Amino acid sequence: MELDGMTTGDTVDTARLVRDTVALVRIDSQNPGVGEEACARWTHGRLRNAGIEVTTRQASPGRDNVVARVAGRGDGPRLVLLAHLDTVPIGEGWTVPPLKGLIRNGRVYGRGAADMKAGLAVAISLLEDLASGEPPRGDVVLCATVDEEGPDMAGAHALVADGLVGLGDQVLALEPTGLRLRIAQVGLRWLELTVHGRMAHAGRAHLGIDANHVVARVVDRLKERIAGLPYRDELLGCPLFTCGVLAGGVATNVVPPSSRAQLDIRLVPPMTTDDALTLARAVVEETLVDFPGATYDLCGLGVARPPVRAADDAYVAARRLRGRRRARHRVGRGRRTRGVYRRVDGRRADRQQVVYGLRSGLVGPGAHRG
Ligand SMILES: [Zn+2]
Repeated sequence: MELDGMTTGDTVDTARLVRDTVALVRIDSQNPGVGEEACARWTHGRLRNAGIEVTTRQASPGRDNVVARVAGRGDGPRLVLLAHLDTVPIGEGWTVPPLKGLIRNGRVYGRGAADMKAGLAVAISLLEDLASGEPPRGDVVLCATVDEEGPDMAGAHALVADGLVGLGDQVLALEPTGLRLRIAQVGLRWLELTVHGRMAHAGRAHLGIDANHVVARVVDRLKERIAGLPYRDELLGCPLFTCGVLAGGVATNVVPPSSRAQLDIRLVPPMTTDDALTLARAVVEETLVDFPGATYDLCGLGVARPPVRAADDAYVAARRLRGRRRARHRVGRGRRTRGVYRRVDGRRADRQQVVYGLRSGLVGPGAHRG
């Protein structure tokens, strides 16, 4: 495989990749849940046993990023491969055991098989090949992070805070993209709205202020407002809005005194994370005019993330990974370059680069449905 002149073997060791992916799927690393400790330990041991320089760096108490490096000749930029150790919770509706790494019809099944234990296995395999061949031009670094599936992405933050990802780095996140190179990412703003009304018996509802009604109006109005925004990005499309959580009321026959909604707003250029908050606040204020006496709180949830796009001079975006073409016939197919609607670690680790020109992209095996 070749990565911008960094030559390793000409073939992909598919059996090794599958073996590592299955081993990783069998490690429960749900977040929230048991967390990444066992997965970090396995990854660290796997890299160390392959003779690769590897360390752990604490991201938060009890949660360590795993950082491995193959030293380069020093005449090329560092390539940082980003993977994450955690998975989303197992959830329900599985038709196969979620932590067995079952292989069926040429696919590995299980929680996190695509997102992103296969990507982590690819990175491990790549480092192993690089370490046994001629040194690459620049250092190749694998950062396997904790807490990518959490709202605050503590692992990615720690990478930036520790200086393990810098402005001069080329960054490639190995998220599941069906091996299609992704160079742009929507922004994300999560908000929590709480409306305070006035409780009353439903038989005398005219004396109360129905907080659920207020929130329903806000959600409806915000949906319309965001759908009507004039922003269309060539890669990322339009802004999107979802009210993911609604909770309010105390009993069927009582006017609800309060109601809470969690709002998810996906941003495309030129929107900023502040724009999302400003727009939501304006809609709430407009709505409350019709409900005298109602009050509200509106605050951010998690970390606000701006939309980003790789800089034109990013190697990982401008130069197709030649080795990827060779590997495609073995591990998947795909040609197009496009944006992606999901939030991922690659953007978080590079957040401080965004205003200067992001040098990151996404490519990895497997894909999300829907
Ligand atoms: Zn992921």
